[in-house]
Amino acid sequence: MTLTDYTQITAERALDVVNEAIDNAEALLGSVIAVADSRTYENTLAPIDRAFVLLNDAFGVGGFMSQVHPDEEVRSAGAAAEEKYGKWLAGLAFRRDLYEAIKDYSQTDDAAALVGERQRNLEYWLRDFRRAGQDLPAAERDEIEELRNKLIEINVAFERNLSEWDDGIDVTAEQLAGLPDSYVERLAKGKREGESRVTVTYPDYVPFMDQAQNRPLRQWLQFKFMNRAATANIRLLNEAVELRWQIARKLGYSTFAEYAMETKMADPKAVDDFYGSIVPGLKALATAELEALQALMEEDLPGEEIQPWDWAYYDSAQRKRDYGVDDNEVAEYFPLETAVQGMFDICGDMFSIDFEEVEDPKAWHEDVSVYAISDRVTGDVIAHYYADLHPRPGKFSHAACWRLRAGVEQDGAYRRPIAAVAANFTKPTAGSPSLLKHDEAVTLFHEFGHVLHNTLTEVKLPRFSGTATERDFVEAPSQIMENWMWEPEVLSRFARHYKTADPIPDELIINMVAARDQNVALKTLRQVFYGHYDMALHAGDGPSDAHDAYYDLADLTMFPPHEGTNFGASFGHMANDGYVAGYYGYLWSKVYGDDMFSLFEAEGVLNPDVGMRYRREILAKGGTIDGMDLLRNFLGREPNSEAFLSKIGLG
Ligand SMILES: [Zn+2]
Repeated sequence: MTLTDYTQITAERALDVVNEAIDNAEALLGSVIAVADSRTYENTLAPIDRAFVLLNDAFGVGGFMSQVHPDEEVRSAGAAAEEKYGKWLAGLAFRRDLYEAIKDYSQTDDAAALVGERQRNLEYWLRDFRRAGQDLPAAERDEIEELRNKLIEINVAFERNLSEWDDGIDVTAEQLAGLPDSYVERLAKGKREGESRVTVTYPDYVPFMDQAQNRPLRQWLQFKFMNRAATANIRLLNEAVELRWQIARKLGYSTFAEYAMETKMADPKAVDDFYGSIVPGLKALATAELEALQALMEEDLPGEEIQPWDWAYYDSAQRKRDYGVDDNEVAEYFPLETAVQGMFDICGDMFSIDFEEVEDPKAWHEDVSVYAISDRVTGDVIAHYYADLHPRPGKFSHAACWRLRAGVEQDGAYRRPIAAVAANFTKPTAGSPSLLKHDEAVTLFHEFGHVLHNTLTEVKLPRFSGTATERDFVEAPSQIMENWMWEPEVLSRFARHYKTADPIPDELIINMVAARDQNVALKTLRQVFYGHYDMALHAGDGPSDAHDAYYDLADLTMFPPHEGTNFGASFGHMANDGYVAGYYGYLWSKVYGDDMFSLFEAEGVLNPDVGMRYRREILAKGGTIDGMDLLRNFLGREPNSEAFLSKIGLG
């Protein structure tokens, strides 16, 4: 299969390609429903597998344009295409005729004889149907559908309130003391002459909390930040949570978390146990961390107690004082091109693959580089990777990876997968290269972990291809990649000063690691707090009130709550039904990423034997087996949290 010629994608085409795919997929589904003879995998599930592939391909051509295309018109058409694609897929489990066809098939001898991926595929379909309420009487199904529709509206309203919220503070130049010129210069003008506007958006808010010396203004800005869309969104969140519980109970689950986590590695009890196992130790460590921050603050403000609006400021001051790591100085060792080449070399050696840039790739923008990935042993091209790494107006504003074409077996051959990364690293100019901050280099490796997962897949069916694992496993193969970016042995291979070509000094790496680990207990407890808040709403005996839960749980952060604020109103994850009862997943998959990395640490961080084992047992397998079994197969033992615990100071 050739690569898509994205230069030919117009707004019309972006939408058409998804419409055509839906038409073709509907025809396939029609053939499934119309089967008159005995049902087999070939006449019942195989056409649906093909429909999935058609839709995924169409997303990769049309829907994905919403994220990256330079023309606004094409992006809008892409967004419409993406919405259609999402709705069509989400609607499948609710279709009665499809349910009946697959249910009929599940009772045949052919179905009973299934093994491997096909057996799992059938199981997953039956599970999807049950979770959609297909086993319930028609009247109850209708009620659930009504609740779901209401829930969608509430989630949309919550997100819109948040994204449209406009608030901030007007400050004088003097009140911006502590902030760098580059920050001050890009602020909008305030209402009064000579004043600047600091809004509650992240690019304004985060540096202000880290660096602004004016304490009352930090408090005031945080108050506003934590009250974004407060009145409306706390009400909406309580309504959404209530609806989720109603849906879960109608479907026969005791809590919403139990329903949401049925398809994941963890269950609510496992998450409870996990938090229970780390919180006491973290609190003990955090007490000492907090004392050090308190002491630092008293140098400025004797007798004052450290508050939620002080912590980021003194954390940042402490890092500067103790480690003196200057982000810009570190960046001089990470010119983008060298970092990308280093990443290819390291992954190439570990996973036995090679990368070759495709000439004239006909991508959606001239900044995009496309690489063919080939297997080092056979020399065959096995996948492609699109790297779209620089910012443009209207482009996706964070960093993420998308599967543009799923690796699947089709018509007796293996279809080569394609993955893309969109990120926003500074674009090089004639005079200056793109220098990555270290956290950007870590992001590059993280996203590339998702690329490897998608491109080195050997899965046969689209449902399990690449990153289609349990949702609380999927960040393990990306988080594991971050580890390499802190290893002197790895960094010395490619991190070189862009002017002098000197390798990055070991001492600098040691300081970077120490700076990363500073206040790790406080930072981890903050993550635990987010996860607990999520669970307070979605697990337990019944939903907690979205406003009160913050005040009940704030002591997990080791700080008192910021009185008068409404944390949950701007906790965006809570408006996404795919993410709720799932916040724990970030730490959870880090446990397993760290556990897997410990095998590399034991055998050599660049050991190609371990690398190949990782490729075979984790990357190649996608979601064809449960995350726990993937881990057991790779590790050769039961997974454990030792590596993670030692990273957070509890080892
Ligand atoms: Zn990720």
